[in-house]
Parts: sequence; structure tokens; C-alpha cells
Amino acid sequence: MQGLIQEGNGEEFVRFSNDIEHAADLTPRQVRVRIMAAGVCGSDLSCVHGKYYMPTPLVPGHEAAGVVVEVGSAVSYCKVGDHVVLSTFANCGHCAVCEGGDPGNCGALGGMRQSYVENGTPLYEFANLGAFVQETIVMENQAVPIPTEVPFSSAALIGCGVMTGAGAVFNRARVGPGETVAVIGAGGVGLNVIQAARLAGAAQIIAIDRAPAKERMAVDFGATDFILAEGDDFDAVRAVQELSGGGVNHAFEVVGSTRLLADAISMTRAGGNTCAVGVPDLTASVTYNFQSLHQNKSLLGIRAGGGRPRKDFRLIADLYLRGMFKLDELVSNTTGLDDIQSAFDALKAGAEARTVLLPNG
Ligand SMILES: [Zn+2]
Ligand SMILES: [Zn+2]
Repeated sequence: MQGLIQEGNGEEFVRFSNDIEHAADLTPRQVRVRIMAAGVCGSDLSCVHGKYYMPTPLVPGHEAAGVVVEVGSAVSYCKVGDHVVLSTFANCGHCAVCEGGDPGNCGALGGMRQSYVENGTPLYEFANLGAFVQETIVMENQAVPIPTEVPFSSAALIGCGVMTGAGAVFNRARVGPGETVAVIGAGGVGLNVIQAARLAGAAQIIAIDRAPAKERMAVDFGATDFILAEGDDFDAVRAVQELSGGGVNHAFEVVGSTRLLADAISMTRAGGNTCAVGVPDLTASVTYNFQSLHQNKSLLGIRAGGGRPRKDFRLIADLYLRGMFKLDELVSNTTGLDDIQSAFDALKAGAEARTVLLPNG
């Protein structure tokens, strides 16, 4: 089947292949999913650039939706024909942590599977998925059924970009009615922080971005204020403090910049939360002024929105179908697997929300 393979660190090491196969048949609790749409997320670019230190050769991609085409003998969570959003959490489902409602912290996470082969060479998969292929095999709890009315290209984004942003608001920061919020970076994830904060009843939502084109989308998604951060010397901390009267209850860093994370701490008012949503190079260190965090502030590490995929994916799909949550507007372009470079270029330019690949046309 067709898919993409990353053979080293750098965009030039990603190539199209016609010869990818699954390494093994389904185990009893696995399902095979035909991938109908796969979003190209900032994390894909970070993976390709080597910032996550993944072994190669590897099939990239981790934000996808599709149709279940085969199920293992013990599968009960979904059935052939179901439309599903895929989760990166290949958690065990039955340890104390999973049963406690915290699948993202299950000890089974973090391993690397070699689920694909190309002409006999084993291929790793990114984030327990390797979604830039025509069909993937995942654990049944990674395939979350959603209503068929949700278009695949919109549904795909629930698996990462939407959950990462909305989950940070709902599950970790727990933004409350009347509170104030700042969001650094109004792209595919930041827009979901914004719309989730609106749903949570935030009174003021300040979006900050370097691209003027982001203002209209940020406001459409619920931002009450937009700050255009022009030039490297722009003082976003001061701008947020002025707009909010001294700082916000919750400041979200979504870009993945350690410098901006330090700024987010300074934007947070006493007693508030600074939320580290964006992911820089995993070995990076953050330097912040001690006084900036000292006033009873909390610095929250947030991976994938602290999500419970089987609960949260369905929740987002239902909110979408009720007209309360925007998904279609997040998709700026759809294209084929072999056009991945244009998706990377769009991400680097920072002007668009999301490119979605359609592996099966
Ligand atoms: Zn577990
Ligand atoms: Zn992602």
C-alpha cells in the first residue's frame, strides 16, 4: 500500500512509497483502519526534524480518522464499518492508572512498535499510529467511534490538534466562567484553546500571534482581543498585562518556544495557571525569573490535552454536531500523501490552520 517513510532527520528524508505492508496480522484486541484523512500537525514537523529523537525508518503521522475494515477476535469497542477517530494512546486499558480514568499516564505508553515493513525492512510508527499510510493497525481503544455525519477531514483533527488545545482547557487548566485567558499562538492547536475557553465561559480571551492573517480566525473562534506580535523585540507580556489589568488567570503557550513559555509565566496573574501546551525539542531547558512564578502560580505540563480519548473524542464530535464547536474551519487545505512538502511549507509559514492528507484519495 501507499504511505510515507521518514529515513533520517530533515524534510528531505521523507519519501513516498508504494510498498508498505503490515508486519503481522491482527492480534485479538487490534483493529485495522482505512485512513480517510490525516492532519499534518506541528508535531509531525518536529518528528521529521529529529526534535523527538525517534528511531528511523519510521512511518510519520498521528492525527487521523477512517473506517474500521477488520477487527480482531476479542474486539468489542468498535465494529467493521464504524467511522473512528484514532488516538495516539495505546494504553493497556486495565491497569490501576487506566481504571482511575487517566489513560495518558498508563505505563504501557512510550514504547516504539515496528508495525510496518517495506520490502522486508521493518518500519517504526510515530505515536503508536504511523498515520500517513492507507491502512493502519491499532489497539481497539485507539479507534474511537464517532457519528458518521462528521466529515473525515474534520474528524481527523479531533485526534490531536483539537484534543491538545481543548483538553488543556477542560482537563488541565479547568478554565471557569468569567476567567481571563491568554493564548500564545493562534494556529491549529491555539484556535482550539480559544474555542474551548469560550465554551468554558471565559470573559476575556487574548490571542497573540505573529501573523496578521490569524486575527480574523482567532476572533471567529472566540478571541475577545488579538495582539499582533510584530518583530523579535515585541513585549507581549506588557501588552497582555495592560489588556487584562495585571495578568490573566490562565496563560497558554502553544508555539513550543521556551522563551515564550517564560513570557507566559509572566502573563499569568497571582494564583493562576501557566500551561505548557506547545512542545519544543524534548531536551530543551526553560529559564524563567523566579519571582515571575512565585506568587502561587502553577506551571502545568500538558501532553495531548490530558485526554481520555474514548470520552473526549465523542464529546467533541457531539459538540460539533450541535453547532457548538468548529472543526471544518480548521481545515485549510486537503491534498494527497505525495504532497507532504506543501503541508510542511504551510506549517513553517504559519499562515494556515491545518493541511489534511487524504491517503485513499
Ligand atoms: Zn494502563
Ligand atoms: Zn499532533
